[in-house]
Amino acid sequence: MNRFTYDRTDDVAQAVAAHRAKGAAFLAGGTNLVDLMREGVATPARLVDIRRLPLREIDATSDGGLRIGALATNTAVACHETVMQRYPLVSKSILAGASPQIRNVATIGGNLLQRTRCLYFYDVGTPCNKREPGTGCPAMEGVNRMHAILGASNHCIAVHPSDLCVALSALDASVHVSGEGGERVLPFADFHRLPGDTPHIDTNLRDDELITAVELPPEGFASNHTYVKVRDRASYAFALVAVAVGLALDGDVVRDVRCALGGVAHKPWRDRAAESPLRGRPLSRESVREFAAAVVREACGRRHNAFKIELTTRAIVRAFEIASRRDFGEGHEVRP
Ligand code: SF4
Repeated sequence: MNRFTYDRTDDVAQAVAAHRAKGAAFLAGGTNLVDLMREGVATPARLVDIRRLPLREIDATSDGGLRIGALATNTAVACHETVMQRYPLVSKSILAGASPQIRNVATIGGNLLQRTRCLYFYDVGTPCNKREPGTGCPAMEGVNRMHAILGASNHCIAVHPSDLCVALSALDASVHVSGEGGERVLPFADFHRLPGDTPHIDTNLRDDELITAVELPPEGFASNHTYVKVRDRASYAFALVAVAVGLALDGDVVRDVRCALGGVAHKPWRDRAAESPLRGRPLSRESVREFAAAVVREACGRRHNAFKIELTTRAIVRAFEIASRRDFGEGHEVRP
């Protein structure tokens, strides 16, 4: 049995200080951490319960954006009037994930920090570079249907499981954190990491830092957006491929575009270089297909997940059709 001490505080600075102890972990909704502890994957020596911190508010920012407290629950955010009206991509991505019971307790900060659902990671009887660096990656030659096709390394091919993070990536959100050195703001693109040779490190959060809020910029792409999630079951399943698209259109011409992918990489995947040629051009089947081809140009499939490359291109085209309310005439099926 893993023995741990338990602390509770209602002060951010005290929480950060309590977390300084070796092997400490913050406890919020606990919907992932408690699972990890039950399986013996996480063995914290100290739990710092942060549920009483004043981090649940959802407020407008001075520049017209929205600041979401890290302890706001997924349900509270998905059902918040401003989020539904101005950032429906956020709302829809949250509602595409988990179950109502989980969404009622899971928090926004915790959503960013949830760990991969790779089966080998959760099975302490197998090696896993993410759980135990240097032991190997059985997913490379094993069961890898759910695994990465982009940005993977020779050390880990896991994917990030969050739906919300795909939407936040598309919206260019930012993450507010507080640590012993004070507060700082990370662009969402810099928050999660690719596995490289340190797959055990998921984010660029420092050891002493606590997420305090997620900030959305003013543009929410409410008029033309979609979240397409392709999965093996219709509900309560992680994405094989997910696509978040936000479009700003002047007639047929693309003024701005964002496209982020989930289920394909160790972090929400954005290809800004591929997005650029879409801007200033009429949106068409050809331009979207070119974009999709560019996004998967370096994709690498394995024994069980190679199908995700074609699935990704189809899901991208379908997502652009829905977001732009156009029919590209491809009759796409996006089933796995
Ligand atoms: Fe572990 Fe990553 Fe390999 Fe899964 S893919 S077994 S998490 S190293």
